[in-house]
Amino acid sequence: MRLPILLLALGLAASPAAEAQTARDLFSAKGTPTSHAPHAIGRHGLGCLAGGVQLPESGPTWQAMRLSRNHHWGHPKAIAFVERLSREAVRAGWPGLYVGDISQARGGPIPGHASHQIGLDIDIWMRPPHRLDLSRAERERISSITVRSDDGRRVNGNWTRAHHAILEAAARDPEVERIFVTGPVKLQMCADAPARDRAWLAKIRPWWGHDTHFHVRLNCPAGQPGCVRPDPLPAGDGCAEAVWWVTEALEPPDPTAPPPAPRPPVRLADLPEQCVTVLNAP
Ligand SMILES: [Zn+2]
Repeated sequence: MRLPILLLALGLAASPAAEAQTARDLFSAKGTPTSHAPHAIGRHGLGCLAGGVQLPESGPTWQAMRLSRNHHWGHPKAIAFVERLSREAVRAGWPGLYVGDISQARGGPIPGHASHQIGLDIDIWMRPPHRLDLSRAERERISSITVRSDDGRRVNGNWTRAHHAILEAAARDPEVERIFVTGPVKLQMCADAPARDRAWLAKIRPWWGHDTHFHVRLNCPAGQPGCVRPDPLPAGDGCAEAVWWVTEALEPPDPTAPPPAPRPPVRLADLPEQCVTVLNAP
């Protein structure tokens, strides 16, 4: 029987040894999910996942990449979303999708990402699949491709209408909260979207990186009070604001400015209390 995680949160304290380790080390050491009912706990960028479900390594319209990382665990809503969007990719003319990181088996801070902590963030490669029968070794070796020009100001020749169609389908999905892309992709999509019916464009958000993959963030599942909703998106389609990403954002940093202070590592005590239960569950 799959018990709800909130009923099992007994206020367990983290052991002193656990307190000395970073939350990332603690969670990345857990390769299997808990047997709770699925529950996204905390914020997309600070939380954990009970009852995680693994994306099958291969499906009719997708392959999970970099299997050695064991980062293809998610809330069941995320797994269903990947299957749904991969069918949209076929409609757009691709064989399917190459799927990057989702979350660790129990979520939590994850190497290489600021979010992806509660099983509701999914990275999708910008590289159109050429085959969907890649071996495990090939999935380690093959890399994605960038859709951004060398000067960072526009999309390059790798960007296609199919990319636009797949990203638009993702943005129109009611379960999707927002999608991070490189600035030139946002601007190209703004230019190519028709003048009417542009509300979905608001969900396409420019951010650093995100030129070799796009990052889909799903809404908190209904009935999961422990899942904290992100701040609402700003009003409007975000197209005028996105120009900053191909102008000021590309200017060299001020050499006289002090370097940003390093962020202290996240400790287990920084996470919601239920995450101690998730971490320590058999
Ligand atoms: Zn991501």
